Amino acid sequence: MKKLVGFIGWRGMVGSILLDRLKKNNDFKNFCSIFFTTSQFSLLAPNVLNSISSKLEDAYNLDRLITLDIIISCQGELYTKKIYSKLKSMGWKGYWIDASSYLRMYSESIIVLDPVNYNSINDALNKGIKTFIGGNCTVSLMLMALGGLFSNNLIEWVSVSTYQSVSGSGSKSMLDLLNQIGIAYKNIHSYLSLSNKSILDIEKIFTASLNKINCINNKIKAPLLGSLIPWIDIPVENGQTKEEWKGSAETNKILNYKYNIPIDGICVRVPTLRCHSQSFTIKLRKNISIKEIQSLILSHNQWVKIIDNTLDSTINELTPLKVTGTLDIPIGRIKKLNFGDKYLSAFSIGDQLLWGAAEPLRRMLNILVN
Ligand code: NAP
Repeated sequence: MKKLVGFIGWRGMVGSILLDRLKKNNDFKNFCSIFFTTSQFSLLAPNVLNSISSKLEDAYNLDRLITLDIIISCQGELYTKKIYSKLKSMGWKGYWIDASSYLRMYSESIIVLDPVNYNSINDALNKGIKTFIGGNCTVSLMLMALGGLFSNNLIEWVSVSTYQSVSGSGSKSMLDLLNQIGIAYKNIHSYLSLSNKSILDIEKIFTASLNKINCINNKIKAPLLGSLIPWIDIPVENGQTKEEWKGSAETNKILNYKYNIPIDGICVRVPTLRCHSQSFTIKLRKNISIKEIQSLILSHNQWVKIIDNTLDSTINELTPLKVTGTLDIPIGRIKKLNFGDKYLSAFSIGDQLLWGAAEPLRRMLNILVN
């Protein structure tokens, strides 16, 4: 009999990408589906193969949720916090797959990224573990890019600077940035084709119009267009942000090696709409050639692509605009650093809504239903 899968949060950014990928891969044929909502109660559910209810159902209805074999939630951590333990305490024995961070570090959960930790996922299933959580977006994208170096025990530590797009903060933040673009354009567009204002006068009008925007009700509390914010998420110990803390904690949980690999850096929100980029400084355990490094990186998975360390290749292949909407993980700017021959730089980009969020969940669902 086909498993019954409940979709929560399918309307959000991660959820709608997940839905799109499931449709494109014809995955709905493998299970029966019910779609839930926290806000659109009387509306129609998406029309997919094997859907057993044409209307959206209430995502807080525990009596309905307990009938499901698998719940896949892209609703966010508040929802998980509210529902997961209640459902477990009611004796629910199903599988929980989640995009939010809430359960990632629980001992009863596995962070899923099967091109990197398929064996851990398999072991967990054999042990009866039922909670499978997608990793932090930059962590998953880093592991897809550098997996060949991690798995060959070549990395002593990584220092990373991220350049994270606004969609990483949810659909509301994306709308806030688009509104800022509209406001700025309205203020300067009449000067753009005339020569009656100097470029620095236009810059002053542009900057003043953005600084005047009231961001109190925005998720990102400051204007982002024409700017950047070197802080993501709440503060934790040692001056780190939670996003920076996740870099080391989650990577080491996914890799599950006997030793800890130090990873740290600064996470930065930038005014791109989609895709997270990362600049890495890596201390290698031994001196190996760039050619060997490239070949190990390439042999790890089918999505990672080496970009030549040239201007043309970089501007054509290593930009968020090029990568958006694809599963590609380009990695370029690979070179040895002046610090010594065990020090390496690299720059990688990935669509954080795909490999950074929806795709590991879709693949985990397929592991369960197949
Ligand atoms: P989101 O776009 O804000 O969607 C979350 C929920 O907000 C939706 O399911 C929907 O619930 C509601 N919603 C309210 N207004 C909406 C609108 N205008 N359009 C669509 N939905 C709207 O959140 P998300 O970015 O997908 O993130 C979901 C979870 O995944 C979070 O825990 C996040 O931390 C995690 N995550 C996100 C990313 C990322 O890049 N965004 C990456 C990795 C992990 P109802 O239909 O019930 O109203």
